[in-house]
Amino acid sequence: MKKLIPQHIHSLKPYKSARSIGLNGRIYLNANESPWTNAVKYIHNNLNRYPEFQSFKLLKKYSQYSNISSNQILITRGADEGIELLVRTFCLPGNDCIMFFTPTYDMYSVVSDIFNIKKIIVPLLPNFQLDIKNIRKKIGNVKLIYLCNPNNPTGNLFLQTDIIKILSIIPSTTLLIIDEAYIDYSIQYSFISELNRFKNLVILRTLSKAFGLSGIRCGFILSTVYIIDILKKVLAPYPIPTPVSDIAIKSLQLKNIKIVQKNISQILKNKFFLIEKIKSFSCIKNIFSSQTNFILIKFFQSKKVFQYLILHGVIVRDQSHKLGLENCLRISIGTINECKDLINILSMFEGKKI
Ligand SMILES: *Cc1c(COP(=O)(O)O)cnc(C)c1O
Repeated sequence: MKKLIPQHIHSLKPYKSARSIGLNGRIYLNANESPWTNAVKYIHNNLNRYPEFQSFKLLKKYSQYSNISSNQILITRGADEGIELLVRTFCLPGNDCIMFFTPTYDMYSVVSDIFNIKKIIVPLLPNFQLDIKNIRKKIGNVKLIYLCNPNNPTGNLFLQTDIIKILSIIPSTTLLIIDEAYIDYSIQYSFISELNRFKNLVILRTLSKAFGLSGIRCGFILSTVYIIDILKKVLAPYPIPTPVSDIAIKSLQLKNIKIVQKNISQILKNKFFLIEKIKSFSCIKNIFSSQTNFILIKFFQSKKVFQYLILHGVIVRDQSHKLGLENCLRISIGTINECKDLINILSMFEGKKI
C-alpha cells in the first residue's frame, strides 16, 4: 500500500487541532472559541434543494458588515478552507513557494506540506514584530505570503507601517494574505480599507471566533473582483451547506451583531481582569500583550502548570514546543466565572510551591 501514497503525503504529520488532542475537562480555554454560543435560532425547511454556490443574501450581509462590495467576497468553509484554496489556486506543487512568519498559526505550514509547496519561514523578531530586512531578502519568487494579524499564538498586532512596507516591496506576482481571524477584537486595525488600494492584497475572515460560530464552519475571502473570480473556478460546486448560510445570515443581522459586540467588550474586560489578578504570580515570567481573545503566558515551568490545570479540569493550549515560545501556554479568555476559576487554580499552584 505504501507505493500508493505520494512521498510528501506519507511523511505528513496530521494537524493536531485543539479538539483532536482529545483532552477532557470542565473548562475549555484551548481553541480561542467564544465561551458563548451565538444567539441565533435555526429551523430548516429547505434541505431538499442544493444550496446556492454562494448565498446572495449572505454576501450582501457580510458586505454590509465589512464595508466592501459583495463581488469582492467569497464564502468558504471556515478561514481554513480559504488558506487552502489560495494554495490550490495559485501554487504549482513541487515548484512554487509560500512565506510565513513564525511562531504563527500552523495551518500555513500544514497546507503547504499537503500540496508539496516549498516554505520560506522568516522568524519574527524577539518582540514578535516582522523582520522586514530578512523578508525583503527572501521574498524572491514567493507566490503567497501568509500574515496572521493579530497573530496567533502571540496575540499581538503587527505595525501597520511594516505591513504597508511589505505591500509596497512585493512584486505584482506575489499575494499578501492577511489572516484576520481575530480582528473583531481590534476591528479598527483591519486592512479591509486597503483592498482597493493594493491589487495583491487578500484578507481572510471567519465567524468561528468572535461570532461564536466555530461549529458552522463559515469564513470569507476578501480581495479584488479579479482574484475572487479566479478562486471561484477552484471552489467546489456547492461548498456552503444551506443551514450554514442561513445561520450566518441571521448572525449578521444588526440586532445580533450588537450582541456579538457586547460579548467582545465583555471578553476584553475579562482579559484585563485576569491579567491584573495573575500578573504578579511568581510562576509567571511574562504575559505578552494581546489584542485578541487569548493571552500567551511565559511560565517558569509551563509543563507543570499545564498538567496542574488539566488536573483541575482546565484545558489550555501548550505552545512550548514552538521556536521562541519555550515555557509558553496560550489561554483563551472565557466567561468571568471561568477566569475566576482559572485564577483560583493558579493561586493554588502558587501556594503549592511555597
Ligand atoms: C481559528 C483560526 C482560523 C480558522 O478559522 P476557521 O474559520 O474556523 O477555519 C484561521 N486562522 C487563524 C489564525 C485562526 O486562529
